[in-house]
Amino acid sequence: MITADQILVKQINKAIALNTIYKKKPISRAEIAKVTGLNKSTVSALVDELLAEELIMETGTGESQGGRKPVHLSINKEVGNIIGIDLGVNYILSVLTNFAGEIIWERRISVKKNGNSSLQRIDDLFQLIEEAIKNAPPSVRGVIGIGIGVPGIVNYEQGHILSAPNLCWTDVKLKEIVETRFQVPVFIDNEANAGAIGEKWFGSGKKATDLLYVSAGTGIGAGIVINNEVYRGSQGLAGEIGHMTVELNGIACSCGNHGCWEEYASEKALFRYMQKKTSVESLSVFDLIDLATKGDHAAQEGFKYVGKYLGIGVANLINAFNPEIVIIGNTLPLVGDILMDELRKEVGLRCFASKYYSVKILSSELNMHACAMGAAALVISRLYASPVV
Ligand SMILES: [Zn+2]
Repeated sequence: MITADQILVKQINKAIALNTIYKKKPISRAEIAKVTGLNKSTVSALVDELLAEELIMETGTGESQGGRKPVHLSINKEVGNIIGIDLGVNYILSVLTNFAGEIIWERRISVKKNGNSSLQRIDDLFQLIEEAIKNAPPSVRGVIGIGIGVPGIVNYEQGHILSAPNLCWTDVKLKEIVETRFQVPVFIDNEANAGAIGEKWFGSGKKATDLLYVSAGTGIGAGIVINNEVYRGSQGLAGEIGHMTVELNGIACSCGNHGCWEEYASEKALFRYMQKKTSVESLSVFDLIDLATKGDHAAQEGFKYVGKYLGIGVANLINAFNPEIVIIGNTLPLVGDILMDELRKEVGLRCFASKYYSVKILSSELNMHACAMGAAALVISRLYASPVV
């Protein structure tokens, strides 16, 4: 009789084999056995199953080491597609990827910043998902799943948005809503967690075991990766560092507190600072980035101001977590060294821990795709962790 434990062990081994093929492709059966420590007959049986499910494919042969030529195995990229969504405050970005996480289609739409109801925004989201599905090439499994990154506090297991102050959303059961409409598995996560996962799977964080991803856009959030896993805390609320207090009697924040970090180091802070110097009524953050990179003094000063405050918070985070790398993502780092130099300077001045090791502080390699790519990785990682799903 086969026990539940045996089924679980087999599922874990299958996930290990699939992950190894993804990371080391092309790879032979013998090499998988060597890398994973699984015995050759187990690997052979698992590979046969993965081939039958069309999740992997044979892609030629390697050099013979005396016996038969080893058969190369790779991920079957075309077996199905994944949709990754970055549900921003004033935009929605949708990417369609193949099974290996390569973007094959994308579209970004602007949405009104204020005043549009959750219903209107969900309608926009549905339209983008429908468009992504239409653009998916025919495949064995079709669209495998949808991942969505949201700027707010999310119960990851339930896919339930508890509060997203910058979207004016509370208590939205988004997973249920999207699954009911599209009938595929849906995964919802905080946008900074999604960004961290995106960087870990596809970007600057591929080789890091412990990393921090700081999303500096309309607000600030952080994705914390410890020992290769996103740290979610006891209730899944970890990473809300945009709301750590940096000024005792500071500016009132939408969360109810005063002096929150994001009031000093986000787009909100940039616009507030710029408004004191010049008229920025009709400008977007991208206009300000453009101005600053073309040498506009006021815009450069604005980015230096938020860069300094970003550095203060990042110094605190490095002291707390001792990460290998800190990746700064979302809109603000798009301005480049103007902001990043100021940020690094502030960390150098304030951080205690970083004096004793070299911590890399980088701007995101995936840029504005980090969250959407991470959202797609939520689906891919679940699939790779449990290939029978
Ligand atoms: Zn706050």
